[in-house]
Parts: sequence; C-alpha cells; structure tokens
Amino acid sequence: MSTNHIQHYINGQMSAGESGLQQAVTNPATGQVTGQVALASESDVATAVAAAQAAFPAWADTPPIRRARVMFKFLQLLNEHQDELARAITLEHGKVFTDAQGEVARGIDIVEFACGIPQLLKGDYTEQVSTGIDNWTMRQPLGVVAGITPFNFPAMVPMWMFPIAIATGNTFILKPSPLDPSASLLIADLLKQAGLPDGVFNVVQGDKESVEALIDHPEVRALSFVGSTPIANLIYERGARHGKRVQALGGAKNHMVVMPDADLDKAVDALIGAAYGSAGERCMAISVAVLVGDVADKIVPRLADRARSLKVKNGLELDAEMGPIVTAQAHQRITGYIEKGVAEGAELVVDGRCFDATSAGDECAEGFWMGGSLFDNVTPEMTIYKEEIFGPVLACVRVPDIATAIQLINDHEFGNGVSCFTESGSVAREFGRRIQVGMVGINVPIPVPMAWHGFGGWKRSMFGDTHAYGEEGVRFYTKQKSIMQRWSDSIHGGSEFAMPTHK
Ligand code: NAD
Repeated sequence: MSTNHIQHYINGQMSAGESGLQQAVTNPATGQVTGQVALASESDVATAVAAAQAAFPAWADTPPIRRARVMFKFLQLLNEHQDELARAITLEHGKVFTDAQGEVARGIDIVEFACGIPQLLKGDYTEQVSTGIDNWTMRQPLGVVAGITPFNFPAMVPMWMFPIAIATGNTFILKPSPLDPSASLLIADLLKQAGLPDGVFNVVQGDKESVEALIDHPEVRALSFVGSTPIANLIYERGARHGKRVQALGGAKNHMVVMPDADLDKAVDALIGAAYGSAGERCMAISVAVLVGDVADKIVPRLADRARSLKVKNGLELDAEMGPIVTAQAHQRITGYIEKGVAEGAELVVDGRCFDATSAGDECAEGFWMGGSLFDNVTPEMTIYKEEIFGPVLACVRVPDIATAIQLINDHEFGNGVSCFTESGSVAREFGRRIQVGMVGINVPIPVPMAWHGFGGWKRSMFGDTHAYGEEGVRFYTKQKSIMQRWSDSIHGGSEFAMPTHK
C-alpha cells in the first residue's frame, strides 16, 4: 500500500520540505496509521516566509473588493466541499461526522464575515478638524502573519484566522496540528481554486521546531495561537519579546451553573451534550457542573443514566454521539486524571474506563476509546477540578447558593466559557455582570460567539489584548494610520512654535 505523504503547501504548491522528518498520522477510531506528515525545519519555515513576503506587496495593493471576491468564491467552494472536509476531520481527529460538519459550518461563518471586508476596512474621516485641514484614519495590513492551531478544530480554528488576515491584505502561514493535518491542505486547494494568488496562503506542517522558527523569524509580524495554556503563555512571551503582535488563546475549565429554578430536563440535555460532545475535546466543553441547592440530588442520577447510555461509536456512523479520544497519549492522560479523582476522594459515579472498544465497531479494537465519566462531590482543591482534563469527564460540584457559585468560578485560573441555567432574569443579569469569564451563556451551554462578535477568554485562557475574529480580528491583523491633510491655499506663512491647536 502506498503511503499517504501529507506535505507543506508553499507558494501555491505542495512541497515535501527539506528536513526529511515526518510523523505518523493515525485514525483514532481504529488506531491505524493512515499517513505520514512532514515536519518543517527552520529552513522550510524560512522558505514559506520568503514566499509569503514576496506575495505581500501585490496582495496588499489589491483593492479590498477584489480580495473579497476571492473570499466569495472560496465560500462557494467551501459550501460545495464541506462534507469532504468534515470526513477528513473525522478520519484524523475522531469526532463524529455531524460534529465535524458543525465545525466546518462555524468556520464558514467567518469566511462570510470576511466577505464584507470593504465595509470593515472603511476608515473614519473628519472634515475641517481645523480651518482647511481634514483628518482621517485607515487600517493597513501588517505583512506576513502566522497562525498556529490545535488538533481539536483543524478547520474551524484556522478559519478564525486566515479569512480575516487575508481579506485585510496580509499573507498567511498556517501551522496546523500534526495530529490532523489534512484539512489544511484541502483548504489550501480550495483557496487556489478560488483564485488566491500563490504565496498568499501557505501551510507549514510541523510541531515545536516550526513554531519556534515562526516566532523568531523577523519577517513574521503577528502570531495567532490557539492551544494549551503553557504553550500559549510561552508563545505570547517569546513573540512579545520580539516586538510582535501576539494573540494566544489557551486552555479552559468551563463551568455550568444549574439553579434550582432551572428547567432541569433542558439542563440535563445541555450538560450531556456540552460535556461529552467531541469527547470533551473542546475548549468550550463544560467540564464542571456547579449544582446549586438541591439540584444535585435531582439531576446526578439522571446525568449518570445518560452518561452510561451515550452512543460511543466510530464517528462515521450517523447516529454516533461521541467518538474516540484523539491519541493513545491523550487517552492515558485522561485515564490518569480519573485515577487521581478517585484517589483524592471524589465519587466516581460513572467510569468511562470500563468501555469496551469493540462495542464502538468491529474495526475499533485498536482505537483510543473510552466512555463518558461522571464524578460527584468534587471539591475545589482536587486536581480534577483545578486542571484541564480535555476529555469526556464531567465533575459535579455542590454549592449552597449563587454567590458561592460565582466566587468559585471567579477564583479559577481559567476564564474561557461559562454558563448559567436559570429561569430568573435577575440571577441571569447578576451572573452576566459579576462573572470573570470571557464568554457567558444564559441557558446556552456552549456560548461560542458568532463570527462578528469575536472569541476570547479571560485570565489564563487568553494572552494578548484582541479577541479572535469579528472586528477585534480586523484590528489585530491591521495597523491604524492617521492622515492629516491641508492644501497650500489654507497654509498661512510663518513657522509655528506652539503646539498646533484647531483654529
Ligand atoms: P497544544 O498546545 O499541544 O498544541 C497547539 C499547537 O501548538 C499545535 O500546532 C502544536 O503543534 C503546537 N505545539 C505543541 N507543542 C509545542 C511547543 N512545545 N512549542 C511550540 N508549539 C507547540 O494543544 P492541542 O493539544 O493541539 O489542543 C488542545 C488545547 O487547545 C486545549 O488546552 C484546549 O483548551 C486548547 N484550545 C483552546 C481554544 C481557545 O479558543 N481558547 C480553542 C481550541 C483549543
């Protein structure tokens, strides 16, 4: 059988690169190696940066409406190929096909937003700031910019970045996760078909070495990173030391508060979907249920029944609700957290470690499978409460009232997403105002903001000032210039030594 070599994409062409290094790509459902992805060296990164740099002047000079037309064509092609992209994601990531389709659809939202770039780039203008003088601001692209993305959204997270980066006139280098690299090349092909000039969008496959080469390369002007908090922190600090713009989105521990007045049927549905969807491998997954008053006694048994009966199957099966864990190492890490939870005294109500892989499908015996796990009586000192597990493990914490719930959440080091289920307007309003978290849902378990609102957490869930996509994304990928202008018939003779003021 011939090996599937997953290459770089530089200057409009596939490239094997020079490093000779590669890494196996595995289908997590079956445990079978399905390809080998190239790993870029510093010199491969330099080649990609040179291509992006060469393409920059002409692309930056292209009128925004023509850049938008490329985005429109790309949008059309994405819509035509979305199932192909979703299938590629399921085969390398493991998430169920309908979830992969949802990922692509949320990425498409950002492409639609980027199609409106002429309006978004329209500057401000003030006539007559002083007699005979006008002042306006414009936003111009930065140059070569790079995006470093995690395994858990191999299409959507790159689409948080490159549509806006490119539409605003930058050239872009994507460094996807080596665990599921194929989506990046399908995207590159669609961009080429859409008429994007060579060198405007490039992909370097790789891991730590290629990321460090991108951070340190003097021609890379800005870095968008999405991944775990320790790496986000490192990238932010190292990029900032080089004077670059860095937007580094990190890990999470998202809480969902359930108030006694909430619709408990809907809260249970929401918790099950948000905790176990995508096997908990979402930065907006709910991993802690904060159960107020007598809610725990009412819903923990129901959560347990639902967790036990999840349809954990090969993601290509259309009724699958949860797929495998991405790698054997991740499986081991999650199993370790479950052991630690038990050792530290939490009550393991449902143990996903008991899951029989062959029940996911005959071909799944060697895959990285587990069922959903549920802990009750988790307390804030426990490791499974403090750390991000990034797997299908839901921890229930019991609290007496909303004030304790808010304090608990505000004391956590992460602040990505949060949710509150209640029927009370005043509780919802206070919760929204007091909570120290970047993205808040009221009766919405996974409040991922829409394309034009921007995405970003607080505290150690994000390093940098501007959120991803939306108008914040436009600001991140552009720099503002102010021009003040007058013409000679309004210029009075003589030098002025006082600070100019409006006259
Ligand atoms: P990761 O941090 O391991 O990898 C992210 C990217 O960094 C990948 O491209 C990877 O190749 C690269 N990388 C890995 N090690 C590196 C190193 N030592 N130096 C430089 N680069 C390195 O994250 P992951 O496991 O791919 O993704 C899961 C994590 O991402 C979770 O923590 C999750 O919460 C987070 N995440 C956050 C958001 C968000 O918006 N806040 C979104 C998705 C995922």
